[in-house]
Amino acid sequence: MAIDWKILGAPGADNSLLVAVNSGHAESRLLFDCGEGCLNSLKPSEIQSIRHLFFSHYHMDHVSGFDTFFRHNYNRPEIPVQVWGPAGSIELFSNRFRSFTWNLHADQPGEWIVRETEKDSVRGARFFTREAFTSAHHLPVVSTESGTILSEAEFSVTCLSLPHHNISSSAYLVREKDHINVSPQALASSGLIPGPWLQRLTDSTPDGDSVDVNGKSILVGELRRDLLRTSPGLSLAYLTDFCITPSTKEWCDVVEWIGGTNTLICECQYATSDASLAQRNGHMTADRVGQLANEAGVETLVLQHLSRRYSEGEWAKMRSEAAEQFQGAAFPPNWNIP
Ligand SMILES: [Zn+2]
Ligand SMILES: [Zn+2]
Repeated sequence: MAIDWKILGAPGADNSLLVAVNSGHAESRLLFDCGEGCLNSLKPSEIQSIRHLFFSHYHMDHVSGFDTFFRHNYNRPEIPVQVWGPAGSIELFSNRFRSFTWNLHADQPGEWIVRETEKDSVRGARFFTREAFTSAHHLPVVSTESGTILSEAEFSVTCLSLPHHNISSSAYLVREKDHINVSPQALASSGLIPGPWLQRLTDSTPDGDSVDVNGKSILVGELRRDLLRTSPGLSLAYLTDFCITPSTKEWCDVVEWIGGTNTLICECQYATSDASLAQRNGHMTADRVGQLANEAGVETLVLQHLSRRYSEGEWAKMRSEAAEQFQGAAFPPNWNIP
C-alpha cells in the first residue's frame, strides 16, 4: 500500500506528475497535466498503462505534451482512457481529437471518456476511435459530494477549483481508502491460533458466516469486531497555477481541504521578492507555498513548476524561502538542485 509519485520534466521546463496508487494487489496510474516533453522519460508501455489523465487547466505548458499521450493511447483496447479537467474540457478535447486526419480508424478499438468538473457535479462524454471522434456521446450529469469526482475500490480523487489570474485551475487530492488489517496485538491477546481463517476477515465473507478457530465455530462479524483495526490511507495533493492570499476564505478552504495530507506537490513559480509579479500572473511565491504547507500540517512539501526566469542558484534560494515557513521543503529528488 503506497502512493508513489514522480515529477516529469526538468526544473524551469514544463512539468507533469505521475502517480501510482499501489494497493499491494493492484496498481492504478494517474497522470496530472501533460506538458511538452514530459512523457519523454517514460516507456511506451508506461504511457499506455495510465488510466486517468487529470488536467489543472489548459495553458500550453500543461497540455502541450498531450499529442504524445494521444498517439500512444488513441486506439487502446479494452480499458477506456479517462480524461478529467475543468469546465470546457469536453469541447476542448472534441476539437483536439478531430484535429487529425482519420481514414484508417473504422476497425480500431479505442474509447475515451472526457469529464469536466464543476462545483457539485461532473459532466462526461464518450468518444470512440472507430467514429473518428466525430460524436460526443454525453453521459448523465453526476452530482458530487465534497468534491469527490472519482471513487475506486482502492482510492478516491477530490477536486477543488482555485483562482489562476482570471481563470480557474483544478487542484486534485488523491486519497487511498482506509486500510483495514488484523491487529497483531489484538490477535495475540485473543489467544486464537493464526491460520487461513484470518483471510476470511478481510475478504467478502458475510459477517453472519462462521469459521472454525481453535476447534470452535465463531462468527466472522465477531472476529472482525475484535481483531480488525482501521488506519487512514495515504494521501497526495497536487496544486498548480494558482494564487491565494493568507487569511482569506479561499486560503482557509485550501488549508482545510489539504489538512494533514501526507504529500503536497505544489507549484513554486516565483521568488518571494517577485510577489507583485506572482499576483499579476496568478501564481504563488515560495514563502506563500511554505506557509500554506505549514498551516495545512502536511507531512512533505515538494516544490515544482519553477519559473525559468531564475538561475539554479535562485531556485535554491526559493527552496530556502519555502523552508523558512515549512521545514524540509524540497524539490523532486531527481532534479539534483544543490
Ligand atoms: Zn497556467
Ligand atoms: Zn503553468
